[in-house]
Amino acid sequence: MTTEQLLQSLRFDGRAFINGQRVTAKTGQVFDSISPVDGRILTQVSRCAEADVDVAVASARAAFDDKRWSGLAPAVRKRVMTRFADLLLAHGDELALTETLDMGKPVQYARAVDVNAAANCVRWYGEAIDKLYGEIAPTASTALALITREPVGVVGVIVPWNYPMIMASWKIAPALAAGNSVVLKPSEKSPLTALRMAELAMEAGVPAGVFNVVPGFGAEAGAPLASHMDVDCIAFTGSTHVGKQIHVMAGQSNLKRAWTELGGKSPNIVFADCPDLDRAVASAVGSIFFNQGESCNAPSRLLVQGSIMDVFLEKALALVPHYAPANPLLQDTVMGALVDHTQMATVLGYINTGKAQGAKLLAGGEQALSETGGCYVQPTIFAGVTNDMTIAREEIFGPVLSVLSFEDAAQAVQIANQTVYGLQAGVWTADINTAHSVARALRAGTVHVNQYDEDDITVPFGGYKQSGVGRDKSLHAIDKYTETKTTWIRIDNVL
Ligand code: NAD
Repeated sequence: MTTEQLLQSLRFDGRAFINGQRVTAKTGQVFDSISPVDGRILTQVSRCAEADVDVAVASARAAFDDKRWSGLAPAVRKRVMTRFADLLLAHGDELALTETLDMGKPVQYARAVDVNAAANCVRWYGEAIDKLYGEIAPTASTALALITREPVGVVGVIVPWNYPMIMASWKIAPALAAGNSVVLKPSEKSPLTALRMAELAMEAGVPAGVFNVVPGFGAEAGAPLASHMDVDCIAFTGSTHVGKQIHVMAGQSNLKRAWTELGGKSPNIVFADCPDLDRAVASAVGSIFFNQGESCNAPSRLLVQGSIMDVFLEKALALVPHYAPANPLLQDTVMGALVDHTQMATVLGYINTGKAQGAKLLAGGEQALSETGGCYVQPTIFAGVTNDMTIAREEIFGPVLSVLSFEDAAQAVQIANQTVYGLQAGVWTADINTAHSVARALRAGTVHVNQYDEDDITVPFGGYKQSGVGRDKSLHAIDKYTETKTTWIRIDNVL
């Protein structure tokens, strides 16, 4: 089927998915899912609220308690998760097109990155779960202490719109693999693929009630989930502002475990002895413009050593035309639409603030393709930025690169760490001592050396400081969705 034929045949179902069935919100209320590609209405989505969350949580609790999933042998859950991953790939074109229409990213990346990463994540945790052993503690011989993992129970998941399938899979895959039941609240800006994922999980053999999806707005559906007295754990990805509220809601309700993956303003430091300047430029530009700049780990603060600033900027500007926004449904588009008009206005507002505060606009700075009715912003580069400017301090979440200058390693680290965030950072240098010293000094969950693109499901992802609490991905993520139990068994030695 061609993309055009698939496009014509796509039918969206925006109803919630609770206890294995598509249901409307109890109030009957809906909201429009509007495509940022061209403003078309894709479908109407159930506007879930507290009553719907209550039903979803009750379904998840019943499923957990009767052990229809939690009681299965890990090897059996593995087989189901593997089938789920296979189904995500089998429906990859449909899911990719849905993601593009729903949130604007180029369809080539939705397919090659988002679908593949989500499927890989589901498969990886499925495959891991029957290889994790408990422990026996080295106690005295008068007792045996077994240390085992148990699923926490009902896991609430709240995710943003920038990588809807990937962000959801980073949480639901380890949670489901460990035997939990899940209630997922996708972003109101991109709810459609999450709903399809739940259907495909059930088709793969995840029992009804184990994976529920309640679309809706943050205050109406997200807050009741985070505050729910019968949710054991809340796993959140989104802004630092809302993440702080999630911890408060968790603490003020039942002290549920709260894990948060939040914002970033990641510094990317290029020293004059950078071993491959062309690669550093291509990576710096490509990483900030990928996904329209809507990436939590985007290296949005570029720190360039003063002596190479001019040559660096000249090379960077030469690459900008490659990222001109275009229709994301076209196969060769590299920069698509921002998620909606609100986000576009926010990004354009930051650009105006950058200009007003004295940063030098070198490229872009304007809305693009306004005639389409979609939400497009030109790839934008500011030079002459200082770390006290708003565009250096706040997360813009759009295609805007702020370039700062530094003189030596000490100043670079001082500027890099002068932020409330600590998600990721980059260092480019040929000197192994500079690389190690700077990497150690950077307060960030991930530091990239002489690249900014490596990623793998095997490594933890998360941040220091106000970039959140806990880590997604890798075996470490399983800790978030399991309790550790110690069982002491007395031994009266007969020998
Ligand atoms: P957001 O915080 O506005 O919303 C995230 C989710 O929280 C959405 O589903 C939203 O409906 C929900 N929500 C909003 N208010 C709520 C409330 N009061 N109670 C409960 N839920 C509520 O963030 P966003 O704009 O959707 O996403 C962008 C943010 O996500 C950026 O800050 C980005 O850095 C961050 N992010 C972080 C990571 C990471 O791994 N660290 C990954 C992706 C995105």
